[in-house]
Parts: sequence; structure tokens; C-alpha cells
Amino acid sequence: MAYKTLDDIDLSSKRVLIRVDINVPVDNGVVTDATRVERIRPTVRDVMAKGGKPILLAHFGRPKGRVAPDMSLKVTLGTLAEVLGADMRFSENCIGEEAVATSNALAPGDVLLLENTRFHPGEETNDPTFAAELAKSGDVYVNDAFSAAHRAHASTEGLARLLPAAAGRNMQAELEALEKALASPQRPVVAVVGGAKVSTKLDLLGNLVAKVDHLVIGGGMANTFLAAQGYDVGKSLCEHELGDTAREIMDKAKTAGCEVVLPVDVVVAGEFKAHADNHVADLESVPADAMILDAGPQSIAEITARFDRAKTLVWNGPLGAFEIEPFNAATNAAAQYAAERTASGELLSVAGGGDTVAALNAAGVGDRFTYVSTAGGAFLEWLEGKTLPGVAALEAG
Ligand code: AMP
Repeated sequence: MAYKTLDDIDLSSKRVLIRVDINVPVDNGVVTDATRVERIRPTVRDVMAKGGKPILLAHFGRPKGRVAPDMSLKVTLGTLAEVLGADMRFSENCIGEEAVATSNALAPGDVLLLENTRFHPGEETNDPTFAAELAKSGDVYVNDAFSAAHRAHASTEGLARLLPAAAGRNMQAELEALEKALASPQRPVVAVVGGAKVSTKLDLLGNLVAKVDHLVIGGGMANTFLAAQGYDVGKSLCEHELGDTAREIMDKAKTAGCEVVLPVDVVVAGEFKAHADNHVADLESVPADAMILDAGPQSIAEITARFDRAKTLVWNGPLGAFEIEPFNAATNAAAQYAAERTASGELLSVAGGGDTVAALNAAGVGDRFTYVSTAGGAFLEWLEGKTLPGVAALEAG
């Protein structure tokens, strides 16, 4: 990919507008999880080390173009000072005289935080006039918010077209991981797609069958595929109306030479509840009054056998109802096996999107995959093969 990084751009004495994601959870005015702030530290640190003056640009919540005091970024200042070890400056408006004057007056060791970009309607409409106002507080633009890169907003897209632009360290790490996972992967590539519904993952499945060698389908969405093949799935979560769509995806996979791996046995229960009475059933014998809540042991063996041969794994979505025991068994077993193969250097594993981070953390392997993306929507859109405006703008710069 052709984008610049912090290593390719002159930052010395420059005011560096850094688009970050510090949309942290807050309870009663207190930041309850500083993970997102911690993640911006390498970029801010490197900008300072190269003589640049960091100016943070971010959104916070959804104020919809109006000033909403309860969505002020001020609440993050204490956490930023602590995590970055910097003297924080703040501008009550992300554009205008105060922002520009404070950006010009920054001393070494200072970091300036600009108020919520979404207080202005021009942010989400990507208004060029608003982007030009933002640009007045910087000489260089760095985008470190991959998680916001699927939105063409002034601070994620417009600015990259107005100032010399580069990817921050988070953005760079994310793009490098995705590149290795899907754009130019070592083969064979296996994708695991699970979760509740096929309808939310049509674009994802359509893109993956054309790119991967084995596609493991699990979770509730596997039921739709099983039903489409004529199996009776009882009262399982199933989108019966998507039978044709499921068959089309299977056909497309066949044409592309992609093997679709569906469950060969399932764990069934009478109700969606932790520790509900359950048993393993083969596909022909799912009771009419039962629901499939997990993949069975033979299915796990089929999945791990694919991992044994694969060099690259891309994972989105749980293989069963992972929040309720014991229906987390297939997700845990497969995730732990993937982590082992990763640890022994035989597998490059990249996961992300929706509930995947929670499922892998629950399996105890959140930090044992090669890369776990916390970007949610942007990660999924990338897996769907869509162009991310924030990334495209960096590449155009
Ligand atoms: P998603 O957000 O599409 O990744 O879906 C995640 C959700 O799918 C989780 O809440 C799981 O409990 C749910 N899920 C996975 N497998 C099943 C299943 N067999 N039946 C019902 N829900 C499931």
C-alpha cells in the first residue's frame, strides 16, 4: 500500500494534527477504560521525538453537529496527561482563533487537544470549508484512527487532501496486519466467519469466498446454510428466507475453488440459557423442539485440521453462543488451537469485528493472535473488500 508513515515525513518544528480515536467509555465524569488512550501513545511519542508538536483531533460520542457539553473531550484531559506524560493544552473549539493561537504557542512537551470535531456539522458532511478551518491549526496531518477510517469525514478524509499526510503507528500496524491477512497472504488462507446472522455478513462472505482457500462458517449463521441444504434445524436461530442466498454463496465458493466448511455435528439445547440441558447431535437428528447453540466435537476437529494446513487465518464472529456456558466450547477450542499455531510460528492470525474481540478474550487468547483489531466497523468493511475513505485519502496524498 502506498501511504506515508511517520518515517517518511518531515515533522521537525511542525504542528502535527493527529486524528486519534479516544472515544473512551466514561462513567460519572471518569474514564473507565483508558485502552484507546494508551494506543495513541506510540504515535504521539514518535511525533515528539521527531520534533513535532502534537495536536489531537477526535470525535466523542454522537453530538450530531451541535455543541453538547456532556460530550466534551475535556473529560479525557487527565487520562491523556497521565498516559502521555505530557502537559496538556485544550481549545474549547476545534476551529477558530483559540485553536490556531494555541497551536502556534505550543512549547516542547506540550500536547494540544482540540474539542470534539462532531460539534460542527461540517465534520460528518466532510465540508471542505470546515476541513480548511481545521487545517489552519496544523502543518502536517497524521491519521491514527483506523477505527474511523470507514467514514469520509473532514477530520478522517478531508484533511488528508489539504496537508502533507501520513499514517500514525496504529493505522500503520492495522494496515500491515490486514495486508498480510488478506491482500497478499501466505496460502493456504482459512477464514472463520461466525456470529448470529447471514444477513449482516453477506458482503463479507461474498468477498471472502473469492479470496480464501477454506471458509469455516459457524454460529447461528451456519444454521441458515444447513437448512439451505435440507437439514431440519428445529427451532434454531435461522434465516430460512435466505436459503437461495446461502446456496448462491456455496456456488460462488465452488467456482472460486474455496472450500466451505460447515458443522458436521452440533450441540443442541431446549433453551438459550447457560447450562441448559444439552447434547451432541448429528445433522440428521436435531430434535424439532431444540436449538443448535454450538458446533460439536467432530466439527472442532474439522476446523483445527484446516488450521494445521493453513499459513494465514482471518477470524470474525463466534462459532456458537459463546456468552453462555457450555456453548462457548467450539469458539474456545478453535481459538486456543489457533493461538498455539500462532505461538509456534506456523500461523499468522488476524481477528476482529463485532463480538470477536470479546469472544477471543473470553477464550483467553486475545493477546495470543498475531493481531486483534478493535476497530469494529472499519475492520469489517475492510474484510468486505470495501475502500475505506480515510485510507484511500492517505494513499492519494
Ligand atoms: P455477531 O454480532 O453477528 O458476530 O453475532 C454474535 C452473536 O451470535 C453472539 O451474541 C452469539 O451468542 C450469537 N450466536 C452464535 N451462535 C449462535 C447460535 N447457534 N444460536 C444463537 N445465537 C448464536
